[in-house]
Amino acid sequence: MPPAPLPHDEAERLIALHGLDLIDTPASEVFNSFVRVASGIFSTTIAAISLIDTDRQWFKASVGLPIRQTPRDVSFCAHAILQPHEVLCVSDARLDPRFTDHPDVLSGDLRFYAGVPLLSEEGHALGALCVADRHPQQPDKRQLEHLRDLATGVSAAIRLHSLMHRLEKEAHRDPLTSLSNRREFEALLSPAANDSVTLFLLDLDNFKGINDVFGHPGGDLVLQEVGRRLQALVRSGDRAFRLGGDEFALLCPGMASSEARQALADRIHAAIGAAFMVDDQPVPLRTSIGIATLPDDAKTAQELVQAADAALYRAKRAGRGVTRQAATLPDTIDPLVPKGISAVHNIGRMDLAARLRQALVPSGAEPFHLVFQPVMALNTQETTSLEALVRWDISPGSAVPPDEFVTLAERLGLISHLDRWVLNAACKEAATWPKPWRVAVNISALSFGLMDVAAMVEDALTSSGLASDRLIIEMTETALGGDTTQVQKAVQGIRELGARIVLDDFGGGHGSLMTLRQFPFTGLKIDQSLVKPIASDTVHARMVEVLAEFGHVLDIRVVAEGVESMEQLRILAECGVPLAQGYLFAKPVRPSDLVQAIEAAEVNLRAALAASQLGPFSEAA
Ligand code: C2E
Ligand code: MG
Ligand code: MG
Repeated sequence: MPPAPLPHDEAERLIALHGLDLIDTPASEVFNSFVRVASGIFSTTIAAISLIDTDRQWFKASVGLPIRQTPRDVSFCAHAILQPHEVLCVSDARLDPRFTDHPDVLSGDLRFYAGVPLLSEEGHALGALCVADRHPQQPDKRQLEHLRDLATGVSAAIRLHSLMHRLEKEAHRDPLTSLSNRREFEALLSPAANDSVTLFLLDLDNFKGINDVFGHPGGDLVLQEVGRRLQALVRSGDRAFRLGGDEFALLCPGMASSEARQALADRIHAAIGAAFMVDDQPVPLRTSIGIATLPDDAKTAQELVQAADAALYRAKRAGRGVTRQAATLPDTIDPLVPKGISAVHNIGRMDLAARLRQALVPSGAEPFHLVFQPVMALNTQETTSLEALVRWDISPGSAVPPDEFVTLAERLGLISHLDRWVLNAACKEAATWPKPWRVAVNISALSFGLMDVAAMVEDALTSSGLASDRLIIEMTETALGGDTTQVQKAVQGIRELGARIVLDDFGGGHGSLMTLRQFPFTGLKIDQSLVKPIASDTVHARMVEVLAEFGHVLDIRVVAEGVESMEQLRILAECGVPLAQGYLFAKPVRPSDLVQAIEAAEVNLRAALAASQLGPFSEAA
């Protein structure tokens, strides 16, 4: 059988294909589900997502095929990609001169084939979604249209996958210094717990003073230079990180001897202390260093960080430019309380944990309250729902940021108590509203594993009298893993009650395409970190566009979070995102100010759309 001719755009096509980083990746449920549906539509034994590489076709997903690749020469899909906008339908391959002497056709294993090209963003055909069978078949128009629709979904999934892959890579890098960031540090550290490894924690001395004198741009230059110097210092196998602010770390395998550790610390001091100029002025740079080694000073990764942290603390106290090595395992720090919980001045980490425990014991006194933030439909220019956000004023005028105490409640195992309180309070409040706006309630993914969330939702609906179709549950994916059957049941149970369930913070480092397809969500919220840069960064804008397209294919509602500027709104509307939430319309407000805030939000939305010369947006919300 003669091989298919090469497409006219072969070189660009291959660049687009290889740029996706999709070939030779593990099987994925998202793509598997597409091929299952395709084979169901045609009742064929075979269906596949085939990507046409230089010399081979590689199957990202398949049913009925025992192999993951074949030579390109024998690929039907290599023919399909020649007409990127057509369906290649071969009703009986024995009658088609292109395929009569194909080995599988000769052996009687393949008679019917239909394939729709999968397109890259620039329109190059990367491969095809195909079905095949050993019996000839004359599919009808409707079946072929379904295959085309599915292929549109697969193309969107491919683009989304590759953008997420890119963002995932970026998410592990500190943009200022290009060193790996805290997330990468934590990811690397956990598996390292079995090996011998030495951790150097660095905290620049008086960095605040440098910022004060040289301004933030000067401070940034200093941090970049420190990043470069540390990077230049490490041997292969060692890793340098910026953990945040003026905190850096080096992770070095081995280094059993105390002398070797001290020698590296001396080199770090020398490198950081070398002359550095900003605006023709020398910057006095020094750092404190805390060192700890696994397994000598700690048994687990978490203890290692604590030991190095404690050593760093002692180094700081001893003066500037000092190194301390871990002495003993620290036993005074509650391992459940994350470092960095220090939101409220004068309240230590331990104290905050104790107060939170107390706050969640039912006692009649409720230290929490809710605020609500409107979510706007761009087509009707009205408020469709309000997200309930919990607030904790620890003392008059002193609030703990919700991110912090929600994380703390998760670590202390108290999160389901908090979620139950918020759910009940939000439903009760929403039942009193003058219009039937929906109410969206955040429930931590951890609660889904700890309790029967569907039953909790049912209780809240019953006791508040709120109609179930007015409730939206927002779930973040932070801690999904392990056995997901309980989550699956809860998500399904919530839908069966008539409420909606959306995946929150999608693209913020947790929400993955996999989760989106694994559970029957009715919507997804695009995380602020993806929305923020869309006006200045085309990768993010494209990502949002693909998510909107994906929402359309999967028939789920897409909300963009954290919309702050008219330019962001204009791009979101152009991308086809139907719903938006953010300070551009309204900040979260107390229930007493709600009606007024909603009116103002709608005025703000209309004004912003009019100013961007975008009329009401036609997409159904
Ligand atoms: P989230 O669920 O993604 O909530 C959206 C957050 O973005 C809220 O922060 C909101 O005030 C903020 N936001 C909205 N529009 C804008 C904007 O235009 N610009 C900026 N910079 N921010 C905007 P908040 O209230 O601080 O909540 C932070 C996170 O804490 C929430 O993120 C959620 O993950 C968690 N959280 C808040 N309330 C609850 C709750 O009742 N239960 C649970 N489990 N988690 C909650
Ligand atoms: Mg939320
Ligand atoms: Mg969110």
